[in-house]
Amino acid sequence: MTGLEAIAIAPSDITDILITHIHTDHTGGLVIGENPAFPNATVHVAEADVDFFLNPQNSEETGYALQYFEEAEKTIGVYEKTGQIDQFKGTENVLPGIVATVHPGHTPGSAFFTVSSGEESIIFIGDLVHVPAIQFPSPQTTIVYDVAPDQAAAMRIEAFSDLADERQLVAAPHHPFPGVGHVSEHGEASFKWHPVEYRDRETE
Ligand SMILES: [Zn+2]
Repeated sequence: MTGLEAIAIAPSDITDILITHIHTDHTGGLVIGENPAFPNATVHVAEADVDFFLNPQNSEETGYALQYFEEAEKTIGVYEKTGQIDQFKGTENVLPGIVATVHPGHTPGSAFFTVSSGEESIIFIGDLVHVPAIQFPSPQTTIVYDVAPDQAAAMRIEAFSDLADERQLVAAPHHPFPGVGHVSEHGEASFKWHPVEYRDRETE
């Protein structure tokens, strides 16, 4: 049983999908073969990533591997052709209670999504971090997947600092389970990750 089946939701019930950036480990599930896996969904993604990854000439101009552009065509490109994408830039309210903010570096249109409800909020930071054990104490450390490594490092330091100041609850995909926690700052451009304690509400 797939995750959606387990909660009795059909792929055709999905109305909106938030994409932090166009890398296949974040977009691969959008398609089945050459068709949208979610036929009624709008995919919300930054205009800067669509412009960059759906134009393979950018591979030649930047030296960023052609594979990423080919994979983008097979995922986001499918939704672009069917008119199922909503492109945002800067800071935009993409859905009620959900704000997108673009933080270029890892990719040109890498985005965070802040989901708010009442007094509470959580921010999904996409690939701001790939290796928590290294990049919190040394956020200047970049990874081969960064389109613009220097910009990615500067963005990480700036974002960590803001997240620590705001004591913001954060969700991050490349962290050990549960991937939700807080950031604190310790001296000049050095940070720590504090995961929340996982609780299973159904067995409590
Ligand atoms: Zn990525």
